[in-house]
Amino acid sequence: MVGRDKLDMIIKNGRVVLRNEVRVLDIGIKAGKIVQLGEELEAEGAAELVDASGLTVMAGMIDVHVHLNEPGLGDWEGFESGSAALAAGGCTTYVDMPLNGIPPTVTVSAMRQKLDAAQGRSYVDYAIWGGLVPGKLHELIPLHEAGVVGFKAFMSSPGDPSEDAFREVDDFTLLEGMKIIASVNKVLALHAESEPIVSKLGQAMRAEGRLTPADYAASRPIVAELEAINRALFYAEQTGCALHFVHISSEAGVQMITEARGRGMNVTVETCPHYLTLTAADLDVLGAVAKCSPPLRDAAELEKLWGVIAEGKVDLISSDHSPCPASMKEADNFFDAWGGIAGAQSSMELIVGEGHVKRGLPLTLISDLLAGGPARRFGLQDIKGEIRIGADADLVLIDLLKTYILEEQQLYQRHKHSPYIGKEFPCKIIATYLRGQMVYGEEAGVSGNKQGRWVK
Ligand SMILES: [Zn+2]
Repeated sequence: MVGRDKLDMIIKNGRVVLRNEVRVLDIGIKAGKIVQLGEELEAEGAAELVDASGLTVMAGMIDVHVHLNEPGLGDWEGFESGSAALAAGGCTTYVDMPLNGIPPTVTVSAMRQKLDAAQGRSYVDYAIWGGLVPGKLHELIPLHEAGVVGFKAFMSSPGDPSEDAFREVDDFTLLEGMKIIASVNKVLALHAESEPIVSKLGQAMRAEGRLTPADYAASRPIVAELEAINRALFYAEQTGCALHFVHISSEAGVQMITEARGRGMNVTVETCPHYLTLTAADLDVLGAVAKCSPPLRDAAELEKLWGVIAEGKVDLISSDHSPCPASMKEADNFFDAWGGIAGAQSSMELIVGEGHVKRGLPLTLISDLLAGGPARRFGLQDIKGEIRIGADADLVLIDLLKTYILEEQQLYQRHKHSPYIGKEFPCKIIATYLRGQMVYGEEAGVSGNKQGRWVK
């Protein structure tokens, strides 16, 4: 090799998960990009050699659903701790949700504050969601021009009653917002639960003194999810707006969205590791650490979700990492405990472990759910989402034969609660590389180099 062609790094002999196949290959990296893929790449002159023999190499996860609470950090999860947990979990790019920073990302000014807070403090790359909320329709085009990847709206209350908090949409805002978002070809992401159904059921439960985890789960039934999906699809048909349904918890919800796509609608669906690994029975045992909305469902629903994943009907999987100070999980009344699961660090190991190791789903499918699918949906496919020549060298080395039990002190997030503490995982992430630089290693931990960049 002549000097100018020298590689910076070769990752040798890994089982490499490509778009359509898994092969033992060497990966040649230069200036942060994958520049060669082949057997027995010439090692001479390469600055660094990584032996991945016996390990599987996957594209870094693109986690499109992460809540980091900056600006206005206080006692919450910020870019440093949240991105450290993501890096340790094999995520190399995340998209930050428009809540729960103060202010929420519903204006360009708030977005600038968000980007300032992230600058130089994230271990991995990131993009930004804008919010669709009542009274701020005029902010959508400026946010689009400022570089948000898409917009997020809640159809049910996000739960924070404070004055400047992120608010759910009314039907007018949803319809008019879709017209504007369609005009700039962006995607609207929706938390789909019917506010009238879940709020009335919740009030009735409280009035009757039914305040257990099971009562909470029963107050947010699958029909509330289906009604909201159906209504949003109707507005999308009227407006031509592209939709993405976040954290869908039911097989019927996935089927409704699949049918809409069959009619030619531009719509995608996401689910989360917790709906695929935990049940309402677990919620009873684990308590508020496993509280989320929509709530965990029963074991039959969990298996049906894996079924639609195997059929290729789910587009992507995200963590919905939604952390809080531990004190906010402690409430006498389960309805008052903070809703949100802090699972950022475990997503890839959960899906590879439960999906591939235990259920035998192909790694190509798993990789598409975690990286390829999100990249294509949110316009990152030219640089990220796959192991191929020309893409960013965002790579994860994972040992599919190594079992381990997750312990609290292994977590990098600020508040170290997780429903997965004590769980035995059938695989383990060994290293994470962002644009060719190691950001997490099993021995070294998360590196001190916060080189994450804003991607848009
Ligand atoms: Zn969320």
